[in-house]
Amino acid sequence: MCYAIPGKIKEIDGKTVVVDYFGQEKRAINEFYDLGVGDYVSAQGGFVIKKVSPAEAEETLLAWKELFFELQDMDLRLSGINLNQKNIDKGLRLILDKALENIPLVKKDLLYLLSLDRQQDKELFFKAANFLRQKYHQNACCVHGIIEISNFCNQSCQYCGIAASNRNLSRYRMSVTEVVEAAVEAVEKYGFQALILQSGEDSDYKLDDLVGIIEQVKNRCPVLIGVSFGEVGLDGLDRLYKAGARALLMRFESSNPEIFAKVHPGRTLDSRLAHIRKARDLGFIIMTGSLIGLPGQTREDIVNDIYLTKALGAEMYSFGPFLPHPDTPLAGCLPSNQEEVLKTLALIRFIDPETAKILVTTAFETLSSQARRLGLLSGANSVMLNVTPLKYRRHYAIYPDKADIYSEINDQIRETIDLLKSLGRAPTDLGISSDLVNNHEKK
Ligand code: SAM
Repeated sequence: MCYAIPGKIKEIDGKTVVVDYFGQEKRAINEFYDLGVGDYVSAQGGFVIKKVSPAEAEETLLAWKELFFELQDMDLRLSGINLNQKNIDKGLRLILDKALENIPLVKKDLLYLLSLDRQQDKELFFKAANFLRQKYHQNACCVHGIIEISNFCNQSCQYCGIAASNRNLSRYRMSVTEVVEAAVEAVEKYGFQALILQSGEDSDYKLDDLVGIIEQVKNRCPVLIGVSFGEVGLDGLDRLYKAGARALLMRFESSNPEIFAKVHPGRTLDSRLAHIRKARDLGFIIMTGSLIGLPGQTREDIVNDIYLTKALGAEMYSFGPFLPHPDTPLAGCLPSNQEEVLKTLALIRFIDPETAKILVTTAFETLSSQARRLGLLSGANSVMLNVTPLKYRRHYAIYPDKADIYSEINDQIRETIDLLKSLGRAPTDLGISSDLVNNHEKK
């Protein structure tokens, strides 16, 4: 967001530029700008989103220089692990040795990690995930914004508070102009450089409207736009990409077809996955994952969900707890819990240490006031702030008592930056997977 540090271009190879950030080199895709070696750019999610003037870049870099290295040192200190502790569980010790030596873990190991019970062992598991996060991603933390543009939905997901059947919800649909203005404000006033636009599957929001929103926002300000409108059809995805959207946030919710079918009447897992795969082929950054704690879900399902996310080529893992909503058919079910979520986040880091950007979800923040800090210390490296206009926010009630429904954007930003600084993290989004670059190079 605001603190995406500009970097200096060191090399250009087709659409790929190599950008230097205080000695760290990262690659990004340049689609729109006429760039030369020595130019300064801002990148988000691996895309160059704007060219920055040398004067502006040098001023920002000067302000960041000392802090950048201070934060890195602090993160390095906080992410160390001690494997010489007494009484470490033997099975855990063997798995950690493998993971830290980069030997792939098998399913049995992963299930073992999920079954850890002693506090000391769980803490070591989380710390090891944090160690791996630091090793591969240093202290970068993505900070994206989300605007929930409509809570109308024609679907009947059994867990979701904005499903069509909920008659106790006050429905809203932001107009095209309202969405565009909210997005431009998020970028120009608050400094966001990556925004997700989300809604229920709202039949009255036509694809032309969504395309229009993306085009207008892209015309007015530099920003990476992600879309999360549900199943818009494969051609719909193509149109959203052509309009300028570059990320898709769409969970497959459960990789277990039986669970999926039970909680999504009238929908199939295959259709959902076809959307995600098509988006991937189009060149979208994929943000996907599942709901932790859906009724009937086993530990093996969680492992399979992570495997599937990886197989889908996800750049960002979005795994959040299921929280029962009183006005849904799953009202009487038990919610997930903090430990289950932390174990899942840590396991993701073990399964995909090098690539995964792992989100601390708003649902987890709703479940636990410590979610962000604990999540970021258990392998996660991404947060999302809600920049939906305040008057609408509380109506996007997918589960009860959603976090951040009353917080001003400035307060959310301040709290987030304070937390990140206390953990030695920099709110930057510098990384990119080589798959994504290769995908774009082929086009
Ligand atoms: N329509 C879009 C779609 O289908 O992906 C986006 C909107 S949908 C409400 C966004 C996400 O909310 C879903 O992917 C789902 O995992 C999550 N969600 C819905 N109800 C939830 C609940 N009760 N607890 C936790 N997460 C929930």
